[in-house]
Amino acid sequence: MIRQTEFANKKILVLGAGISGLSVAQILQRLGASVVVSDAKSMDQFDQDFSELQAAGITFMMGHQNEKLLDDIDYLVVSPGISIYIPLVMAAQNRGICVMSEVEVAYRLSEAPMIAITGTNGKTTTTTLIGEMLKTTGHQVGVGGNIGAALSEQALAVRPDGFIVAEISSFQLEGVIEFRPHIAAILNLTPDHLDRHHTMEVYQQMKEQVFNRQEASDYLILNYDDMAVRGMAKRAKGKVVYFSRQQCLDFGFYVENGRIKMNLDGNCNEICAVNDINIKGGHNVENALAACGAAYFAGVRPEAMAEVLKTFSGVEHRIEFTAEIAGIAYYNDSKATNPESAIKALEAFDGHIILIAGGRDKNTDLTAFMKLAKERVDHLILLGEARQRFAEAATQQGVNNIHQVATFAEAVTLAHKLAQPPQVVVLSPACASYDMFNNYEERGKAFKGLVRQLG
Ligand code: ADP
Repeated sequence: MIRQTEFANKKILVLGAGISGLSVAQILQRLGASVVVSDAKSMDQFDQDFSELQAAGITFMMGHQNEKLLDDIDYLVVSPGISIYIPLVMAAQNRGICVMSEVEVAYRLSEAPMIAITGTNGKTTTTTLIGEMLKTTGHQVGVGGNIGAALSEQALAVRPDGFIVAEISSFQLEGVIEFRPHIAAILNLTPDHLDRHHTMEVYQQMKEQVFNRQEASDYLILNYDDMAVRGMAKRAKGKVVYFSRQQCLDFGFYVENGRIKMNLDGNCNEICAVNDINIKGGHNVENALAACGAAYFAGVRPEAMAEVLKTFSGVEHRIEFTAEIAGIAYYNDSKATNPESAIKALEAFDGHIILIAGGRDKNTDLTAFMKLAKERVDHLILLGEARQRFAEAATQQGVNNIHQVATFAEAVTLAHKLAQPPQVVVLSPACASYDMFNNYEERGKAFKGLVRQLG
């Protein structure tokens, strides 16, 4: 409660009128702050109707932004889509205004311990898994970040004896000050978002913000198989717990002889078989190991973890089982918006794949993707703006049976016509969706709708 009074009677400027910005603005206003929301876009560039928020007392200053916005401001809350290095935010810092991200606000509001998950890939899946595991303890659990409700909303809703499980991107870590999760996990670190962070060093430093303020009583879950992540142990303040798909560990969670195991200084337990994990792919074994590590230190029993791993059907649009029609399984992996992600999908199946790919071309290198497609894909159905370049790259690698179609309906109908057991049909586009849809979620839903019509 003490923490919640921090924002009362303060003048707060929220930068960014997206989902995160508007949520935090409403919460701060409810807590008695005087809130101004500013976005460089004008009001008519948003689909959203702001009138209810205005009626509730939130002021909107839209369009051109200048330093006058900072006059009399106590706190500046920056949305994840906005860099803290833009001139307006730098000017706020120079004036001594306290600059923070929504994650920091959530941390200050939360009375429940926080479990924070970051990394380049696998955050949503791992965060969701941990949430499911924690629910088995009977405690109240709030899952947020990029998923579910805004983190600050969860922070207010969850009682002190519950848990907040937070998916945290490197952007959100730019604006943390006191943020100290009781359990933090770093899944992996590969070059990404370098357009914003410029160098791998800065990107890594940002990710390390997730544990920089931990103390000896906290836990840090690290991927032993990723050298950059393994090396972070040197700078850890809390207890380091590794996970590994490749190696048995004295203190950690790992795979041995096809079984998920844990060993904490000789306290050993077997959790389940790798094959029991319901979500597909080796990358998901890593996510499962990380989830077990975090959940264990939040009080989840190994048997309960096993139950969740056996039944959890994955997050929507990530190698999501859609339906079985005439003995053929259909999977929606619309979230695979680049070749690396689509490779993960191809690796998750033992060949016999009818792959639907293409969309808005990101002009990425397709060599590794098409080499793997040559091994595992029986029919490649291509559509969208990228289809011609994809077809050429596939031909170069000797991929068999390349088909080009104009619409999603045609792609699904053709896949249905071609498929024979034991084949599977997988939408894993390796492209953005914007040539035909507003986002990858819409694309995945369209695919699922068409598949269900086949049945
Ligand atoms: P994020 O929230 O970090 O984007 P998701 O859980 O939504 O991660 O998974 C997105 C995509 O990232 C998946 O479809 C898969 O292709 C890839 N992925 C997931 N987990 C991992 C992992 N542990 N290592 C590498 N790639 C992964």
